[in-house]
Amino acid sequence: MITAISQTTHPFPDWRQALREAVTDPHELLALVGLAELAERLPPGDAGFALKVPRGFVARMRYGDPADPLLLQVLPQLAECEDVPGFVDDAVGDLGAVAGHGVLHKYEGRALLIAAGSCAINCRYCFRRHFPYAEELAASHAWGEALACLSQDTSIREVILSGGDPLVLSTQKLTDFTDALHDLPHVQRLRLHSRLPVVLPERIDDAFCAWLSALPLQRVVVVHANHPNELTADVGAACARLRGAGATILNQSVLLRGVNDDAATLAELSERLFASGVLPYYLHQLDRVRGTAHFEVPDTHARALVEALRDRLPGYLVPRLVREIRGERSKLPL
Ligand SMILES: *Cc1c(COP(=O)(O)O)cnc(C)c1O
Ligand code: SF4
Repeated sequence: MITAISQTTHPFPDWRQALREAVTDPHELLALVGLAELAERLPPGDAGFALKVPRGFVARMRYGDPADPLLLQVLPQLAECEDVPGFVDDAVGDLGAVAGHGVLHKYEGRALLIAAGSCAINCRYCFRRHFPYAEELAASHAWGEALACLSQDTSIREVILSGGDPLVLSTQKLTDFTDALHDLPHVQRLRLHSRLPVVLPERIDDAFCAWLSALPLQRVVVVHANHPNELTADVGAACARLRGAGATILNQSVLLRGVNDDAATLAELSERLFASGVLPYYLHQLDRVRGTAHFEVPDTHARALVEALRDRLPGYLVPRLVREIRGERSKLPL
C-alpha cells in the first residue's frame, strides 16, 4: 500500500536506469536527431573520448539541425584530432595539485574532492577527456584517505564534491561521506558541483533530497548549463526540489564558440536560470585542453559579451567571466 502510493506520487522515473540507457553510439545519436548523413564526418575512435549523452538531453536537441547548440556539446568532431599549439592534456595543473587521494587543495578554505570518475554526459570541451581519474578517486577506500586529509587541515571550511560528477554516486555512498564529515567541526559547508540536475534531473529524487535536507551543513549546489535550451520544465522541477532541501543553487557555464558565444543566448540563459531559482556564477573561458581549440572564444569577444550582458541584465544575472590559471590562488577575473 505504502509502496504503491509513493510510486504513484513520485515525479521522476529511476535515474539509474536513465543513466544506463544513455546514448553511447554516435551513429544512434545522429539517427535520433535526423542527421544520419553526418556519420562520414565522425572522427576515428570518437577522438579518444567516448560519446555519452542521456536520452532526455537528446530530446532537447533540434531535429535535423547540425548546428544545434546541445548536439555540438556532445558530438565527436574531426576538429578534435587537430593538434593545436598551447592546447595540452593537463591545462590547469590538476595533476600537480592532487595529493594522491583525490583531494585538490588549490584555494584557501576550500578543498575539492574528485569524488567520481565518470559523468552522466561527456562534454567534448572538458578537461576530463585526459584526466587519469581511475587513480584519483576520493570515494575509494570508503573515503578514508580523503577524510584523513580533510581532518588534518582545519583551515578547510568548505568541502566541494566534484569529479567527474559526484551525483553519479549512490545516495548511500554520499551519506557514508557526510556521516564521516560530522567528525570534522571545521567543515561548515558542503558544495556539490554537478551537471546531473540539468542533464539527468531524475537524479534529484526523494532519497537524494532527504539526504540533502538532513545535512547539518550549509549546502551549495553548482549546476552546469551552457545554453537556455538545456533548461526544461523537468530541470526547473529538480531545482525546486534542491531549493526545498535547503540548497543555494548557482550555475557555471563554459563559453563555447558556436554554442553560447552571443549576448542574446547568454542573456536568455541567465533569465531562464533565475526563473528556476538559480543564480549565474561563473562564465569560464575554456581551459586550453588538447582537442578543444575549435570551441575557443577570443578574450576580446568574451569581454564584449559580458559588457553586453551588463547593459541588458540586472547585475545579479551577469556571470563572472573567469579563467583558471595554473598556480593562481583563485579563478582569475578577465
Ligand atoms: C574551481 C575550484 C574551486 C572552487 O573555486 P570557487 O572560486 O570557490 O568556486 C576549488 N578548488 C579547486 C581545486 C578548483 O579548481
Ligand atoms: S566534468 Fe562536467 S563538463 Fe566535464 S564531462 Fe563531466 S559533466 Fe561534462
